[in-house]
Amino acid sequence: MNRIVIVSNRVGPLTDTGRAGGLAVALVDVLRERGGLWFGWSGEVSEQGTYGALKFTEEGTVSTATIDVAQVDYDEFYAGFANRALWPTLHYRLDLTDFDRRLEEGYRRVNERFAARLVPLLRPDDIIWVQDYHFFLLGEMLRAAGVKNPIGFFLHIPFPVPEVLTALPNHKKIVHAMLSYDLIGFQTTNHLAAFERYLFEEVGGSREDDGAIAAMDRRVHAAAFPIGIDAEAFSKFPESKEGGENLALVRAELDDRKQIVGVDRIDYSKGLPERFTAFERLLELYPEHKGEVSLLQIAPPSRSEVRAYSQIQRLLEGLSGRINGRFSDLDWTPIHFITRSFPRRSLAGIYRGSAVGLVTPLRDGMNLVAKEYIAAQDPENPGVLVLSRFAGAAEEMSEAVIVNPYSIDEMAEALRTAIQMPLEERKERFEILNDKVMTNTATTWAHAFLDRLLEIHEPPEDIERQAF
Ligand code: ADP
Repeated sequence: MNRIVIVSNRVGPLTDTGRAGGLAVALVDVLRERGGLWFGWSGEVSEQGTYGALKFTEEGTVSTATIDVAQVDYDEFYAGFANRALWPTLHYRLDLTDFDRRLEEGYRRVNERFAARLVPLLRPDDIIWVQDYHFFLLGEMLRAAGVKNPIGFFLHIPFPVPEVLTALPNHKKIVHAMLSYDLIGFQTTNHLAAFERYLFEEVGGSREDDGAIAAMDRRVHAAAFPIGIDAEAFSKFPESKEGGENLALVRAELDDRKQIVGVDRIDYSKGLPERFTAFERLLELYPEHKGEVSLLQIAPPSRSEVRAYSQIQRLLEGLSGRINGRFSDLDWTPIHFITRSFPRRSLAGIYRGSAVGLVTPLRDGMNLVAKEYIAAQDPENPGVLVLSRFAGAAEEMSEAVIVNPYSIDEMAEALRTAIQMPLEERKERFEILNDKVMTNTATTWAHAFLDRLLEIHEPPEDIERQAF
């Protein structure tokens, strides 16, 4: 069987230390099945950067190889073009973009360096699978270096409509580079349709007989592969020692009250201020919920070196303080805002102890928290998922209470519906949602993608790298 080589910005861990996300667990599973190599950034910044020694780890048939980046790479690539140009553009936040050409150049340079360090590690029969928006250009650079292997790419975040994408300087070069991959996977048919529209309308692409799209002298296959979680394991976490302890803590603290839970990295795409405001609106419109319902928001900071991220954390601290000042009583605090992360087993216990899972991003590739919340429920007494229509997960999870996260009133009403939903309806919705979460897991996702990649791969013609 061919070896799998996965490339992603962050690598591992290979063992579940309790912190490994569902995606990491699924990727390790496919790496184990076929044997494989996981290549990416070490998480370290050093003087030698991408020119330093490779660091290897090995566990059975799976190894990892990582490289450092230099400070300038970190600033221009990771905290630069990736998270100040691509992330906001792909999440429809053109108001937050920084299109400085220096950042773009740093992005190109780091993609090139990663390709240069990966090539010597490759074997002729490897299957290469590149993950996410950090590496749009990597496939083209591998092809230019003569790599003939199957190379797939999966985009974990949204692909925006052409009207938005075209605001990105060099959008054409980025999409052209994407066409060097054999197969591009998106989270939803909606993101796929946006990509296809770009090819058809912006660069005159056309559909070929085998389903591929020909555009800009290249050919690519593209399809939607909605990602899942390690559902079976996650559904057992609430009964693990850590999960059980946290569930007991939540129940003791709540007494007979109900808890709404949100779990997100602090990110402007997650709709957190709108969420706090919607909870405030609920208390204004329906004062009978005062003292009866609380909101627990767990949100560890991320990317705080990017200004838009530190600003939003301050905004949330101010909002929760104001709402708590306005409504708190001696025996009840409306919003608990916790800015640290929890081990996954503990999170599962917290999900199970919460009557409502509130997942209201303004835009999200998939949103795994929505799936984790469902997997963690007690089938005999499940909670209710309130889900943004703009999360990729909404395409599959239509039995959730679907909301428009821009409408504070609609969210407040949805919260009321969720809090008051009778057991029978909760069970009905849960059973359908849970079936989907259990069927379409992280592992089936990885297999579906890799099977398709092998099916469509044809030995590529020599291509030249474009000047950026
Ligand atoms: P994103 O990839 O944009 O952060 P997702 O919802 O798709 O959003 O994935 C987030 C992952 O991070 C989930 O697996 C979730 O459990 C985990 N996570 C988020 N917040 C925390 C936290 N406070 N502690 C532990 N894990 C967290």
